[in-house]
Amino acid sequence: MYRKNAWKNYDEAELKKVMSFAKEYENFLSDAKTEREANDYAIAEIEKAGYQNLDELIASGKAPKAGDKLYRSNMGKGIVMFQLGTDPLEKGMNILGAHIDSPRLDLKQNPLYEDTDMALLETHYYGGIKKYQWTARPLALHGVICRKDGTKVTVRLGENEDDPVFGVSDLLIHLAADQLKKDGAHVVEGEDLNVLIGSMPLKDTEKDAVKANILRILKEQYNIEEEDFLSAEIEVVPAGKARDLGFDRSLIMAYGHDDRVCAFPSYKAMLELPAEIKRTACCLLVDKEEIGSVGATGMESRFFENTMAELLHLMGSDSDLAVRRAIAASTMLSSDVSAGFDPNYPSVMEKNNCCYLGQGLVINKYTGRAGKAGSNDANAEYMAKIRRVFDEQKVCFQTAELGKVDQGGGGTIAFIMGNYNMNVIDAGIAVQNMHAPYEVISKADLYEALKGYVAFLEHMN
Ligand code: MN
Ligand code: MN
Repeated sequence: MYRKNAWKNYDEAELKKVMSFAKEYENFLSDAKTEREANDYAIAEIEKAGYQNLDELIASGKAPKAGDKLYRSNMGKGIVMFQLGTDPLEKGMNILGAHIDSPRLDLKQNPLYEDTDMALLETHYYGGIKKYQWTARPLALHGVICRKDGTKVTVRLGENEDDPVFGVSDLLIHLAADQLKKDGAHVVEGEDLNVLIGSMPLKDTEKDAVKANILRILKEQYNIEEEDFLSAEIEVVPAGKARDLGFDRSLIMAYGHDDRVCAFPSYKAMLELPAEIKRTACCLLVDKEEIGSVGATGMESRFFENTMAELLHLMGSDSDLAVRRAIAASTMLSSDVSAGFDPNYPSVMEKNNCCYLGQGLVINKYTGRAGKAGSNDANAEYMAKIRRVFDEQKVCFQTAELGKVDQGGGGTIAFIMGNYNMNVIDAGIAVQNMHAPYEVISKADLYEALKGYVAFLEHMN
């Protein structure tokens, strides 16, 4: 059976590269905890590397040429990047895709209330979470509050050492006799995920004095009114930085590996390409995967297709057919995290067909649930090409499905790209405790993903 451990392949020099790339990734993760923050972080970096805003080219009508590096942001929550190749665009592109949203708690639109001299914020969870995992831990608030006049406040509170943190209470074990008889899905209910934000009343105030004091502070610090929460997007995420895990520092424990652990090496791979490439390289970082890839910033949106039409228009090709050809002739690695084998929970895995931390980039021919329902299920011919490229470029990879047949399942953005009739396959990185507030990955897998993505962009044809 095909199995390798990536760590065994590294000499001293390559081991240093593995560790330094992991450090860069940890800095990214600690900084970029939301789709907006990941969008901004990546754009700052790719602009330094010579990427130009495609919207500026569209405005000026200037035609791009081979070798040009372009990007476009989708409402500040997702990015598409291109490095134009010498081949015509209609011959297709090599595309990397990953999502930059992660499971979390979102504030409701009318979040603020007071109960028994405590001020709290109502939340609505986003994506698939085990709700009991979000109690009794330091949480941070990240997001934006948009005022009616068009101005916007950026909120980021709970990350610096002298920042306050926030939290959802848990029931004390001493009084949890009834609670502990409930099944796991109901131990903590969605409506119990209220975030404690203060307890000091405003003096000389009778009703809701604690809430009044919080509103006073919000007015002073951010110049916002309670009603401004109506047009806000505040995400409640675990506070704190990404950390090395283990005596050997081979692993990373952090919030939001899913799917920034694929998004980061995807856009970094674009920056590793030589100045001249044959096939156009493309990277897509999208939002809303965790809730079904819906909406204007999800993969189901026409953003990518519209951008391709704009790009081809600038390059002098105005036909709908050109857009269709360029997309259908493309090949894609749709990257998302995979469930790494966990020695604590072996019963849900089939050992010959699951992925292992440290054994390299994961390729999933198919995902889905039950009888492969909802899966893209890539073509064997395409899988053979992927194997050839990775073997030739010495990328350590493994193949896997999510877990045992009929144990559960999951989906990705791959099938949406498959709708364009392109060859697309799921790839990604093994994660332990996926969707928990803190997830774990292997630094070797992260590094092999970077290598694999570069190999794919340069050598897939
Ligand atoms: Mn994911
Ligand atoms: Mn996920």
